[in-house]
Amino acid sequence: MTEMFSNRMAGIPRSFIREILKTAQETDIISFAGGLPDSNLFPADELVIATNKAFETSGRNIFQYAASEGCEQLRSYLADFCRNRKGVAVKKENILITNGSQQALDLLGKVFLNEGDDVVIEEPGYLGVIQALSMYMPEFHPVPVSNERMDADRLKILINKRHPKLLYVNPNFQNPSGITYSDNNRKEIAGLINSKETFLIEDDPYGELRFRGNDKLSFKKLLPERTVLLGSFSKSIVPGFRLGWMAAPEEVVEKLVIAKQASDLHTSHFTQKIIYQYLKNNDMDKHIQKITKVYAQKCQKMIECIKKYFPMSVSYTIPEGGMFIWVQLPVSLKAIELFEEAYKNNLIFIPGDPFYLKRKYINTFRLNFTCVTEDEIETGIRKIGKAINNLINF
Ligand code: PMP
Repeated sequence: MTEMFSNRMAGIPRSFIREILKTAQETDIISFAGGLPDSNLFPADELVIATNKAFETSGRNIFQYAASEGCEQLRSYLADFCRNRKGVAVKKENILITNGSQQALDLLGKVFLNEGDDVVIEEPGYLGVIQALSMYMPEFHPVPVSNERMDADRLKILINKRHPKLLYVNPNFQNPSGITYSDNNRKEIAGLINSKETFLIEDDPYGELRFRGNDKLSFKKLLPERTVLLGSFSKSIVPGFRLGWMAAPEEVVEKLVIAKQASDLHTSHFTQKIIYQYLKNNDMDKHIQKITKVYAQKCQKMIECIKKYFPMSVSYTIPEGGMFIWVQLPVSLKAIELFEEAYKNNLIFIPGDPFYLKRKYINTFRLNFTCVTEDEIETGIRKIGKAINNLINF
């Protein structure tokens, strides 16, 4: 059978994280592994009201086939959001509604990539972008990210040598490291792209979840014609509706619509209408404040516990928002061994390996703090601390 599958499927594994998450659901485990939002914060009652209202307003049409670009009202809302919140000059015509931002990544691969094209990604970086774009068989070039920046010197060398077609960045509260690119770094990167034929994917599903500091410049503002901005309702409202969006130049939207028609005709009209109704009737700022307050507390708790239970030789990021803390063990330790040790104690996190293209047995790992209680954070971090000390003393 193997020989029947297409070349593009060769060597693309199932998502490591999604496999680990299955374990978390099945057993009585404390999980710092996923990137799930806290379901206690889902605006469930408001969504039920919005569902009834959407049905009252649209009638049976809510169940009908609809436009591939997405619901007009939702696209207008999102264009206003981009203008008012990010200072990005886009119109409704620039917005395409997708099945989560994950679909946006797939559509961008479909529209831009030929086999062997060069694509620059972050390292460590979001696994889902490697999985989505791998289907189009590009050549990936990782550029390190750390301490508020992507390595612009490395990027410059790659741009001059390889003329990559796409550059993917997740600049706010990055998955997995939690870091945010500084404004200076963003300007530096935009300056490099400006002079070349590269298109930039600004993936920003966590941008609204800021609990400290000020918003940073959007790449879409710095490089409007060369950037596609990806947003999502997964972290701010609910992930289960699978609603995301992209803001792109009209010429690009045109091609993306064709790719989307080939994939799924359109995103569910039903869920788009519900979300639109929800946004119309509720104060989104207040909802976001509620989420960020809880996430800030959980993040703070996790950092306090790391300070209390982890040895001094371990370093970690302190995010300004989002969902993740990135931990670096002493070089002699392997995060995958720590994972095995922690798993025996009913605790999971994501070892750093899958966030790198090729490197294995590395000494970093990702902790998620949004989907656990403060008690679980205390117990879990204490257990990991004990496991680290055991490995150091082994
Ligand atoms: N980009 C990044 C950086 C993510 O972390 C995720 C989800 N974890 C996605 C895109 C996809 O999100 P969704 O499809 O739910 O919008």
